[in-house]
Amino acid sequence: MSKATPNTGAAAESVPRTAGDMLRMGREFLTRKGLAQARLEAELLVANALGIERLKLFMDLERPLSAEEVSRGRSLLSRRARGEPIAYITGGREFYARTFSVGPAVLIPRPETELLVDRAREFVRARGLASPRCLDVGTGSGVIALSLALEIPGASVVAVDISSAALEVARANALQLRVPAERVEFIQGDGALAARAQAPFELVISNPPYIAFEAKPTLAADVRDHEPELALFSPAGDPHHWLRRLLEETPALIAPGGVLLIEIGHDQSAAALELARARNRPAKIHKDLAKLPRILEVEF
Ligand code: GLN
Repeated sequence: MSKATPNTGAAAESVPRTAGDMLRMGREFLTRKGLAQARLEAELLVANALGIERLKLFMDLERPLSAEEVSRGRSLLSRRARGEPIAYITGGREFYARTFSVGPAVLIPRPETELLVDRAREFVRARGLASPRCLDVGTGSGVIALSLALEIPGASVVAVDISSAALEVARANALQLRVPAERVEFIQGDGALAARAQAPFELVISNPPYIAFEAKPTLAADVRDHEPELALFSPAGDPHHWLRRLLEETPALIAPGGVLLIEIGHDQSAAALELARARNRPAKIHKDLAKLPRILEVEF
């Protein structure tokens, strides 16, 4: 009898035959590269290479792969292994239960920023505002502005950013998420005053760049080497630049009884309260789920 058996050795192993193979190999590869979330990330990247949802992958483990799918999967996995953030590779990130397109022109939205949207909704509800006018300063991918427009039925939102590339991403997200054009207006400009002609607003909201430039060397490499500096850092030597700017510019734009909500770094709360109170404004800090100070709320 012939002893010949199909070759299932090392060479065959290195080319994934099925979605399940690629998932296992991707997981091992990313683990070897030292990525803490190797399992989840392999799932996201392999699903993306196959053009399916992550959870659908598990119903399709036996699905055979085309040569093209194999090479797409390999290229996505090696980009991740070289440090590119997963959201830029897949081109999307969830925020407030919706998927937003993101790319290297914008900050990748962080889960703690959802709290800013929660606070804004709470403010609108508590005041019983039927058609609040909202200003989002430094809109980036548009996550805050568009979540407000979609979550608060009568809201109209103005979204400002200095970066035209970021505004392109935000506009594309507005189209993708079918936000009616009359509910959101995008303006290119530097700071809140770019929306002077659209004032007054009941709500001014911002997740400004608040990481001290001096802290750059301490950041994770995927953040430091890939996300836009303009979106991450306050100017060198001036860690509270945007707190000050927003507190200075808001009075010219805000309606009486309005509120300013700013996301802050966990080490900024004392300075934030001090800056607000120096302007005789009632102010408080809200903590995030990790119990870290995260939002400055200022009343006008
Ligand atoms: N508003 C966007 C966000 O919250 C961008 C913020 C920024 O670039 N600093 O994700």
